[in-house]
Amino acid sequence: MEGCKQHHSRFWKQLLDWARRGGLREFPWRVEREAYRIVVAETIIRRTGADRAVRPYEEFLRRWPSVEALAAEDDLAVAAFFRQLGMPGRGILLRQAAERVVREHAGVFPASRRDLMRLPGVGSYIADAVLCFAYGIPVVPVDAGVARVAERALGLKSRCARPWTDAELRARLCANVPSDCVRVCAYALIDVAALYCRPKAGRCTTCPIGEVCLSLQKGREVRVVPEL
Ligand code: SF4
Repeated sequence: MEGCKQHHSRFWKQLLDWARRGGLREFPWRVEREAYRIVVAETIIRRTGADRAVRPYEEFLRRWPSVEALAAEDDLAVAAFFRQLGMPGRGILLRQAAERVVREHAGVFPASRRDLMRLPGVGSYIADAVLCFAYGIPVVPVDAGVARVAERALGLKSRCARPWTDAELRARLCANVPSDCVRVCAYALIDVAALYCRPKAGRCTTCPIGEVCLSLQKGREVRVVPEL
């Protein structure tokens, strides 16, 4: 167990070092601490991916710059905005969540996972993104990419068909995340998944956490893409 803890500490340190050397991708929502903006960004990213989310994110915030502005809008206008992203229903849920935050939480997104997940359209990933990126609480939002790195690099095997929904994997991944820099650690993990640890093959020879990756050490599971 102690060895496991030490391995996790080295994993987070490697991610952090890489982030501090300038490895992270830059997106406008990554400098935000306001929960509303985090929820808007993550709602859009879930559909478009981060690279294609910048324009709709900025456009959305020009139209509805605050949770109060969104709460006062009608469903159809927000649905029309989200229709261009292929998810009109998401827009309605987001507006309803804003209305609930204004009515029941005085316009402030709650800092509790349970309360966040009671909001329309807010699932496990978005709730954890708010806790982590807005409030700095030491949890990591787990999507398919993050779960993939956790399985390959840390050996956190999941029995679930969809490992990113596995509460045990999430708990074990979050257990040793450094509490004083959780935002950077989470962004680094997301970016390693997106840039290096791809679903079908890893760019393992240049991966910033290759030194601590169990799959790479054991020479198994990940078909390594040779760097050109
Ligand atoms: S070394 Fe390879 S398998 Fe391990 S985390 Fe990096 S890309 Fe993924």
